[in-house]
Amino acid sequence: MIYSVITFGHEILRQKAVPVAEITDAVRQLVRDMLESMYAAKGVGLAAEQVGRTESVCVVDVPHDAEKEACREENAAIPMPLALINPEILATEGKQRNEEGCLSFPEIGAPITRADKVTLAYTDFNGTRQTITARGLLSRAIQHEVDHLNGILLVDKMSPMQKLSVSGQLKRLQRIANKE
Ligand SMILES: [Zn+2]
Repeated sequence: MIYSVITFGHEILRQKAVPVAEITDAVRQLVRDMLESMYAAKGVGLAAEQVGRTESVCVVDVPHDAEKEACREENAAIPMPLALINPEILATEGKQRNEEGCLSFPEIGAPITRADKVTLAYTDFNGTRQTITARGLLSRAIQHEVDHLNGILLVDKMSPMQKLSVSGQLKRLQRIANKE
């Protein structure tokens, strides 16, 4: 099932996700549907709130060849796509600043500062707790999706100047959301 992605202005995007107690068939189906929805929307990550759900689940698929050379080797052992259930950032290191977008903010992007490296614990599709360390784009995508699960959005990461420059687009999204 392909969900349509919920855009900025809808209250659900501000909700904190609820930890998943058990990896049931329903949770696995949600993961499959979220992957399908992410690919349909041509995104590299998607969080439960963006499809109107509150389980602590997000999916990420950053192609290894999209990474800068220096990050490729470090991320090579991380299987794609990633289904991250109850993800928890354990540590971050360094800084990176790059253009970032979000499926809930169509046509809006801005350079955002994130940690370069992230170490993450999560439960996988089979219910096994895993720990990975990612760099570069994959690290950025993971941090972005974990933010979603805490109700934190791209707009919250923007500087006042960046927000001002997209304020017309944000208002437009908010008007659309109010009508739905
Ligand atoms: Zn997003």
